[in-house]
Amino acid sequence: MRLIVQKYGGTSVGNPERIRNVAERLIETQKEGCRVVAVISAMAGVTDNLLKLAGEVSPKPSEREMDALLATGEQAAIALTAMAVNALGGRAISLTGAQAGVLTDRIHTKAKIANISPKQIYELLSDDYIVVVAGFQGQTPEGATTTLGRGGSDLTAIALAGALGADACEIYTDVDGVFTCDPRVVPEALKLDEIAYDELLEMAGAGSKVMQSRAVEFAKKFGVPFEVRSSFNRKAGTVAKEETASMEDVVIRGVSIERKQAKVTLDDVPDMPGAASRIFTAVSAANILVDMIVQSASDRNTTDISFTIHEGDLPRAEELLAPIVKAIGARRLISHGGVAKLSVVGIGMRSHSGVAARLFDCLGQGNINIELISTSEIKIAVVIAEKDADRAAQLTHAAFGLARYGTSTR
Ligand code: ADP
Ligand code: ASP
Ligand code: MG
Repeated sequence: MRLIVQKYGGTSVGNPERIRNVAERLIETQKEGCRVVAVISAMAGVTDNLLKLAGEVSPKPSEREMDALLATGEQAAIALTAMAVNALGGRAISLTGAQAGVLTDRIHTKAKIANISPKQIYELLSDDYIVVVAGFQGQTPEGATTTLGRGGSDLTAIALAGALGADACEIYTDVDGVFTCDPRVVPEALKLDEIAYDELLEMAGAGSKVMQSRAVEFAKKFGVPFEVRSSFNRKAGTVAKEETASMEDVVIRGVSIERKQAKVTLDDVPDMPGAASRIFTAVSAANILVDMIVQSASDRNTTDISFTIHEGDLPRAEELLAPIVKAIGARRLISHGGVAKLSVVGIGMRSHSGVAARLFDCLGQGNINIELISTSEIKIAVVIAEKDADRAAQLTHAAFGLARYGTSTR
């Protein structure tokens, strides 16, 4: 008998009608002769509301209590989903992350899955239950509740599919699959039939939130193929898998944008060993995630070092870097928010030249200024003004003829 893991995101269980729709789909899958494990997210908006509430009662809530709070969103959703299945004459039971055997490390609010012991899931499946598991949560070896970072239900689904050796893992969401760009930003974006793990990983890391990047990383590491598809219709979605030879024929698979970024520059940093280390050790000690880092060529024994961070971290970064600028003898710190990162991603870049030139030309023609540039083997990213982000994505999408490579099943 096939075993299938189906994950339903927040919008897909966003109201009672949609929960009933999910319940129907779960029953249908079981009737087709499958053993079914469902992974469910909190109803749309619930996690954001809980975060807001926490902020209203405490300026700096402990991360342990934050996890205890956030996990309730998924717990409500699994109980409602199981009830809906049972009301339709099906047989379902809900399990929290802990009950499902999801064991994590102790890093509250961004815990990593250490191990899954799916004993209880197997027993319930052999009793013909549809097993409805809470996404995004697990427990420490001491039994404290943890969460897996925003979008973490994707990770629960992939990790469970891997641990159970599932025959298929389907990620149901509110769009038809992975598109060449966020379809809410570029209406001409087309759904991709397939994508390599590496491409989806780069796109997720570059702001395409259709899949959590840690989930894609896990899928790649453990070889768990999955399909992203819509819970609102029956269309085939996008299959994410190991790359195949023909995938390299496509120069660019997609365009991603990440908003709310800030750029920090230290001007005239003395060109000596240890300067960069002083800067980035201080930033990382404050748990601030640094994204792009660019150092200019040395000019009269000084260099400029620029990097990007989330806009929300800027005040803290400015505060902690002020004394370091003095200590290392740099001239000044210049920083501003209101920037966005635009990335083009594709494994075809390895074998096609001229991608960077085409991107820069398109942005230049659109009178969009590039503030920073960074590249990896399969990605070129630029920092631009946030106000230009949507237009830049639309221009880039058109310049690379991306609409040609998708399918027209949207
Ligand atoms: P869920 O709640 O189901 O996990 P998310 O909101 O996390 O759904 O992710 C789906 C959203 O991701 C879509 O509504 C879409 O706006 C956005 N998105 C961003 N980039 C892409 C892309 N390249 N392809 C598809 N969707 C994208
Ligand atoms: N509910 C969590 C979030 O909003 C996890 C998820 O939806 O995947 O981030
Ligand atoms: Mg999501």
